[in-house]
Amino acid sequence: MRVVLLGAPGAGKGTQCKRMVDKYNVQHLSSGDILRTERAEGTELGAQAQDYMDSGRLVPDDLIVKMMAGAVAKAPESGYVLDGFPRTVNQAEELDKSLASDGRKIDAVVNLQIDDSIIMERMTGRRSCPKCGAIYHVKNLKPKVEGKCDNDGEELMQRPDDKPEVVKKRLETYHEQTEPVVGYYKQHACVLEVDASAAADEVGTKLVAMLDALAGC
Ligand code: AMP
Repeated sequence: MRVVLLGAPGAGKGTQCKRMVDKYNVQHLSSGDILRTERAEGTELGAQAQDYMDSGRLVPDDLIVKMMAGAVAKAPESGYVLDGFPRTVNQAEELDKSLASDGRKIDAVVNLQIDDSIIMERMTGRRSCPKCGAIYHVKNLKPKVEGKCDNDGEELMQRPDDKPEVVKKRLETYHEQTEPVVGYYKQHACVLEVDASAAADEVGTKLVAMLDALAGC
């Protein structure tokens, strides 16, 4: 199964991807995670992406398309769920072209819909542990001791791109550049619309039911 998961930053794409990985045995390919790994490893691509990421802008298409084409090519036969990619119509077209050259296509596109106000609250309150990667929230998922990781006591941090001014910019970028991707896929693929404002479990249950019923698409 080859799925694209669309939705604004903070819509819960990462959480829902984990659910799909467990249920369908697909690989989770997150462009944001791959870029963060490139940065942590100090690669040239990581250095090129840094300023764009920290200011909430998109990394140029040519860099991303090359990076994700490589990841898709290495994915297992069971398939993958793309998270955070494609983020522009140009990226979607390039992905379709590269899949078509192997006689493949995207089986389903899931669009997680949610209001900007909910996203602002979710993202600006998010904190993470720099050591083990555990994620917390200042209101909804508090650590036992304020500001410290439950697992290792490490000082929790806010990702630079979760700061309010950057989240605002990321949402603007999403509406301008990524929302048109939904329109693109409505003409070229099967798009499943999912309300992502509910609790993650509820969203996941609906999502899986829709993917299970995909034959009817
Ligand atoms: P994410 O974790 O998916 O929100 O991605 C974090 C940042 O990485 C984004 O704000 C962008 O700067 C960059 N990024 C991730 N995926 C893409 C993409 N498909 N196209 C361009 N930039 C991306």
